[in-house]
Amino acid sequence: MQTDFQDIRDGIRALCAQFPDEYHRKVDEDRAYPEAFVDALTREGWMAALIPEEYGGSGLGLLEASVIMEEINRAGGNSGACHGQMYNMNTLVRHGSDEQRARILPKLASGELRLQSMGVTEPTTGTDTTQLKTTAVKRGDKYVINGQKVWISRVQHSDLMILLARTTPLAECTKKSEGLSIFLVDIKEAMQSGMTVKPIANMVNHETNELFFDNLEIPQENLIGEEGKGFKYILTGLNAERALIAAECIGDGYWFTDKVTAYVSEREVFGRPIGQNQGVQFPIAEAYIEVRAADLMRYEACRLYDAGQPCGAEANMAKMLAAKASWEAANACLQFHGGFGFACEYDVERKFRETRLYQVAPISTNLILSYVAEHVLGMPRSF
Ligand SMILES: Cc1cc2nc3c(=O)[nH]c(=O)nc-3n(C[C@H](O)[C@H](O)[C@H](O)COP(=O)(O)OP(=O)(O)OC[C@H]3O[C@@H](n4cnc5c(N)ncnc54)[C@H](O)[C@@H]3O)c2cc1C
Repeated sequence: MQTDFQDIRDGIRALCAQFPDEYHRKVDEDRAYPEAFVDALTREGWMAALIPEEYGGSGLGLLEASVIMEEINRAGGNSGACHGQMYNMNTLVRHGSDEQRARILPKLASGELRLQSMGVTEPTTGTDTTQLKTTAVKRGDKYVINGQKVWISRVQHSDLMILLARTTPLAECTKKSEGLSIFLVDIKEAMQSGMTVKPIANMVNHETNELFFDNLEIPQENLIGEEGKGFKYILTGLNAERALIAAECIGDGYWFTDKVTAYVSEREVFGRPIGQNQGVQFPIAEAYIEVRAADLMRYEACRLYDAGQPCGAEANMAKMLAAKASWEAANACLQFHGGFGFACEYDVERKFRETRLYQVAPISTNLILSYVAEHVLGMPRSF
């Protein structure tokens, strides 16, 4: 599997070689956005992987996109700075109108615009997405948005955002997943006319924000798909996001196992390499096995997604297995670097923080277990 799509892997590795560990370390230290890196990815066409060829992209599938994300993380970078464009893309490609596709996709392909943000989570409802309180009320040829979002990433480094809001009050819906709609928001325009962005300082170098909407007007032509069907559409993005993040965790997992294997093979204590001790070998070997197993589920999730088949179970399971595997690998890597694991110049502590996020976001491990228990195994619904 690690040798599949060798041409993509070689291309990304060559690009990443121009952005060594020092680059990512400095960006992390400065809490900056890796502009030069994302620009280079865009210039070489990688950010347009999922855009159909007729709109200037490469017309690749989610599987290929996942290999791109995996290789970035495996090379020591963090795809979190740019993965939004990948998981948001299919929402627009699959559910956008011909007019929206023709208007937006060529500009995304050329790099003129970035579609890096997706606004779903809210402060008072959290994981309970269907209860979200942000409303979009139709007035003439516009929708008026009011409400609040939290943890919305890359808003300051994106031109467009996909926003989920309620268009029909919950009380008037027969199912709680109905009555939600998705919109394309022009971020710069919105910041002039009703959307306030408040950055959230956080543990990783991840640009993420609180958003406040106060009578923000969105033209009706920016509604994606049919009004009221937004929850179904947003799942396209969420399943893609889970499969892509699985791939990123797999990239991290290989980075950690490679890094620690090299270190323990060289570091001598008690007159021999520490990697000669089975107490050191076994956690690393176990983490590697888990990364490889998660890799298989990632392929399955992406294969189903690209075939247009249901993949909710596989995307969730891939994300959970991969996040767990990369976290085990991170722990082993930090542990067997001893004190040096805490030194920034080894990059272990940075990658350790980055990969920890994926136990919680974009969906927590508990919620995946609950999804599988209810929707795959058929156990009674718990909420
Ligand atoms: C750095 C970062 C970037 C993010 N970027 C985005 C973004 O771009 N767009 C976006 O929309 N969101 C984003 N998020 C939000 C992310 O998706 C949510 O944080 C995540 O879904 C969890 O929601 P919550 O924080 O509200 O946790 P809560 O829903 O409050 O849950 C907290 C914890 O309680 C547990 N829990 C909750 N309910 C149950 C239950 N029924 N059964 C068992 N356990 C339960 C889980 O362990 C969970 O981790 C981001 C978050 C972070 C930290």
